[in-house]
Amino acid sequence: MNAPANSSLSPAALLDKLAPLGDTSYSLDRCADLAGMIAEINRLKDERRAIVLAHNYQRPEIFEVADFIGDSLELARKAREVTDADVIVFCGVHFMAETAKVFNPERKVLLPDMRAGCSLADAVTAEALADRAADLREVYPDLKVVSYVNCTADVKALSDACCTSANAVKIVERIDSDNILFVPDRNLANYVAENTRKRIISWDGNCYVHHQITPEEVDRVKRSIPGIKVLAHPECRKDVLELADAVLSTSAMMRYARESEADKFLVVTECGLSDRLLMEIPDKRFYKACKLCRFMKMITLEGTLDSLQNLRHEIELSDEVQKGARRALERMLELSA
Ligand code: SF4
Repeated sequence: MNAPANSSLSPAALLDKLAPLGDTSYSLDRCADLAGMIAEINRLKDERRAIVLAHNYQRPEIFEVADFIGDSLELARKAREVTDADVIVFCGVHFMAETAKVFNPERKVLLPDMRAGCSLADAVTAEALADRAADLREVYPDLKVVSYVNCTADVKALSDACCTSANAVKIVERIDSDNILFVPDRNLANYVAENTRKRIISWDGNCYVHHQITPEEVDRVKRSIPGIKVLAHPECRKDVLELADAVLSTSAMMRYARESEADKFLVVTECGLSDRLLMEIPDKRFYKACKLCRFMKMITLEGTLDSLQNLRHEIELSDEVQKGARRALERMLELSA
């Protein structure tokens, strides 16, 4: 594994972006308010010919109005399959809404809150990537850039292929180069490097939510709940992954929990997924890492209602970025087929 390439969001810049989590309690009054908003959102969805896509890390009340719930790529592909929607309201973060736009250029794609960014996507800019790739090609002329889908559309547009946490190893193995610049997640790059013989040059980005989970926290739960299965996301640190029974993407965690004979799981990822697991698999027990992504939680039911009422905030991409990002995403689909 080579030294990481530069660029990461400074702690001060990250803190500037984080907002309070807002109302996360569910009192009777709050539930009554939510029920009213859910009814109005469902009415507006019909009137606007809109669908709501919700990422696995969203609040439980957002799941109630979602037409589809999944990881970012599943959602973008779902949106492409829906033929009768004019509007897509994306309840997730900005780079995910961009991916939905890339696959649905003719539709209006709305993000309820434009502040919903991502520490990982912010860790690499298109300019920094272009400079670093040019430098590295002096040493490795066959260098290929593989970008994790958690990055902006203009970074995707400069990549040879994208990957998800589920197919990262496969994409790296199948792309026609032995030298890979992998952006932006250093932890995922480490995980890939351990599962391939190719040279992986990592970027120095991380998901602040997964990166803060420690092996001590996981170990404490393992020791206090005998028989618990630990499911960890590859954005976690290496010393956390070493304690896991399975290293899985969020969608793979859903499948694993459904199909496993085990009935107790520690879900080592953002807490929203545990809410979805509890709602969809009520006969099993899920323990969560208690880590919330404040970017994801900027999306609220109030914001989703506002988005549908006022058709805002619209995602716009230049033709060049849209085409480049689509090429890299489609290359991923070909390589992972
Ligand atoms: S959980 Fe991490 S990768 Fe996902 S949106 Fe939040 S900061 Fe970004």
